[in-house]
Amino acid sequence: MSEPGVGPVENDTNKFLKGIAASGGVGIGQVVAIERFATEMCPKRILNPEEVVSEIGRFEAAVKSAAERLKSIKSTIGPDHPLADHAYLFETSILLLEDRMFFEGTKKAIESERQNAEWALSEVMHKIAAAFETTEDEYFRERARDIHFVGERVLRILMGVPSESKIHQLPPHSVLVAHDLSPADTAQIKSERVLGFAIDMGGRTSHTAIMARSMKLPAVTGLQNITRVAQSGDTIIIDGSTGVVILNPDPEMIYRYRERQDVYRKYHEAVMAYGRLPAVTRDGTRSVRISANIELLDEVEIALAHGSEGIGLFRTEYLFMGRNDLPTEEEQYEAYRQVLIRNAPNPVTIRTLDIGGDKLAASLKVSPEANPALGMRAIRLCLNHRDLFRTQLRAILRAAVLGNCQLLLPMISCLTEAQLAKTIIEEVKDDLRSEGIPFDERIKVGILVEVPSAVAIADLLAKEADFFSIGTNDLIQYALAIDRVNENVNYLYDTLHPAVLRLIRQTTSVCQATGVPIAMCGEMAGDPVSVPILLGLGINELSMNALSIPMVKKLIRSISLDECMELTRRAFEMHSAGEIRGYLSDWIKKRFPTDYFVDET
Ligand code: PEP
Ligand code: MG
Repeated sequence: MSEPGVGPVENDTNKFLKGIAASGGVGIGQVVAIERFATEMCPKRILNPEEVVSEIGRFEAAVKSAAERLKSIKSTIGPDHPLADHAYLFETSILLLEDRMFFEGTKKAIESERQNAEWALSEVMHKIAAAFETTEDEYFRERARDIHFVGERVLRILMGVPSESKIHQLPPHSVLVAHDLSPADTAQIKSERVLGFAIDMGGRTSHTAIMARSMKLPAVTGLQNITRVAQSGDTIIIDGSTGVVILNPDPEMIYRYRERQDVYRKYHEAVMAYGRLPAVTRDGTRSVRISANIELLDEVEIALAHGSEGIGLFRTEYLFMGRNDLPTEEEQYEAYRQVLIRNAPNPVTIRTLDIGGDKLAASLKVSPEANPALGMRAIRLCLNHRDLFRTQLRAILRAAVLGNCQLLLPMISCLTEAQLAKTIIEEVKDDLRSEGIPFDERIKVGILVEVPSAVAIADLLAKEADFFSIGTNDLIQYALAIDRVNENVNYLYDTLHPAVLRLIRQTTSVCQATGVPIAMCGEMAGDPVSVPILLGLGINELSMNALSIPMVKKLIRSISLDECMELTRRAFEMHSAGEIRGYLSDWIKKRFPTDYFVDET
């Protein structure tokens, strides 16, 4: 991070940053900085004494121009305008621009600290926001957000940054550098122009990371301050396999990474052949199905090309994002139909809407929540918006006759939710029946086990479920109390934490006792280090990012079930994630010295 007064480091060569290896591969290109959070990107400069007066003038002019723009927007809102009831918000914003702390505070910082206007303003904004954010009062927290919005508007004017996102007009060879990208942003990106992502926020299981893997693009997340040090146009290398980012590399470094890119590519080409083979262990046991997770329709072809034996998780929320209205029943039906037909006769598990948390849809007005991951998301939201849920269920049930379809309910945390969801499914079936519309009478309904309470009552839920699928991304977040998009605590996020392994074992034991099939669709399912343990615990289906499939099949075909059992037994004797990871990584490196199964991070 650049220190106050030192200014941006654009002239440094080979500036190394280390983040989280979120999506493999090497990208070498030009930075396109997405100025979504302008406060994180503003330049810092100590002014010469003679610059102070003109800098204050520049700030005042920017505030005036922001106020004029707000007034002109407000003037378009007449009494019949749909926003007429909210016009007062513009008044509030204009008043905030005149706020003493905001206006005078910034001028004072320019004058006494000799900070440039952007820097001074962003510091003042942070101070005001921090003061408001810590209050319990919802009203004051809302004001903090308002200040952020007006402050950002002024900052954009100061920095000459247009309001609309650059995502729609990317030049070729772009590496996107952003504080964070919403799933909707990521979904709108034209992947042929983008060589990778370098992101301040997030970890391996944030949705930006998952989307990047689906798009076969390298990504490094959790960089914390890349948006402060990288400038649009800088040359950048990102190594999504190790989490390393190099800004302004010299020619020798570029050469070295081009070689690495080549090695990586060749390894992946060689491993691709395994995708076509079945996942049979060396002893000839065919105990596990290897499926793909998809978010977008286009990913079906990628999944098939990598050897998926079905879709273990279709995250339908992406049909709802990046738009201002809701998809109709017909639109959804068409999407589900296509996925089912293209995968037939293999199974497709369609998850009902899991919106909320870090996935938001403009069309769904979810009021801001202090803890969105613990709030109104997934099945909770669907049970609260019954029409929305019913429309989706109708589309799934209708499409299901065209292939091998299963339905998956996300974020079930108690028996009542599962029962209520199933009652609604039966009601929707009744409707379709009475309307004479064909649908799948016997569709299997599964429960996504991703909340620790679901593990604790797995025996009760087993009576309601045709199958279980363990969602480790959320299960880990909730069991270990680690926000999956918070880079500050990401170091604690470990799939091999003994608590996580025990939760998985607890679930698989219930499944073995009851005969309920068990899948896993969290990112752990595609992590080669974890795969032997998952086989040892008796998981029947591993659903993963399609790109991991060939590698995982290669691994499975090289090991025996006995070996998996022994590794599992030993891992359960260990006391920490570090010990278990070390043991499994050593084992894998010894057994497969030339493979890329373990990230050397
Ligand atoms: C999970 O939580 O593991 C999961 C598969 O769902 P998502 O990542 O979409 O929350
Ligand atoms: Mg989940």
